[in-house]
Amino acid sequence: MAANNRTPMIAGNWKMHMTAKEAADLAAAMRAGLDPDLKHEVLLAPTFTALHAVNAVLGGSRIFLSSQDVAWEEKGAFTGAVSPSQIKDAGCTHAIIGHSERRKVFLETDEVVNKKMKAAIKANIVPVLCIGETLEERESQKTYRVLETQLTGAFAGITAEEAAKVVIAYEPVWAIGTGKTATPDQAQDAHVFVRKQMERIYGKGYADAVRILYGGSVKADNIDELMAQGDIDGALVGGESLKADKFLRVIHFQAVLSK
Ligand code: PEP
Repeated sequence: MAANNRTPMIAGNWKMHMTAKEAADLAAAMRAGLDPDLKHEVLLAPTFTALHAVNAVLGGSRIFLSSQDVAWEEKGAFTGAVSPSQIKDAGCTHAIIGHSERRKVFLETDEVVNKKMKAAIKANIVPVLCIGETLEERESQKTYRVLETQLTGAFAGITAEEAAKVVIAYEPVWAIGTGKTATPDQAQDAHVFVRKQMERIYGKGYADAVRILYGGSVKADNIDELMAQGDIDGALVGGESLKADKFLRVIHFQAVLSK
């Protein structure tokens, strides 16, 4: 446990990769390789069609299951969408919301992200809210403004009590899948800003407790220095989470005791 009392979380986003069988096999390898004394939280987010199979493998383990997205409606004429109760039925306790690929490729706005947050919370699903700036926004000094807007939009109309379990993932878009990781200092700086924003919205108690993950080309060989930063509480990992040995190394990062 870190000195700040925030339980670290390492999450794997498997994106649109793997069949159900392949995902179940990888989940089984993760389960088998996990240190039984590990105290922090581990989350796997397979594609929708693999949720049931992965859940069957994880049953009774300490690894949580997440979807990569969730609809804001419970049921009805929403072709292609998957509702909070449907992901719950598949075994999910968490849902990634507002990933930059959803924002960019599927044109999700902060308003849509906010509706999904509310629907997940109502269904007792823990949102893993993704925020982050593009390269252009960073280079034109708009990083803080973008983060502030995304956070204000995502949490609009949500009480501190409702937001209690939310996990935030700061993922600079320029670092996702590019091999360009933010330096530990850049990431720490953004995390401090995000925490200040959460203090503005919900107060210091909330800001001190909320977990902020870093995402963007996290690898087995950079996780330790990232996790050594005081405001980085975990990682959301894409590419590196597809390889059992590498992802296990990320999960068993070495920085906890120095925090
Ligand atoms: C992600 O998918 O959220 C991500 C951070 O991907 P990668 O680790 O591959 O950059």
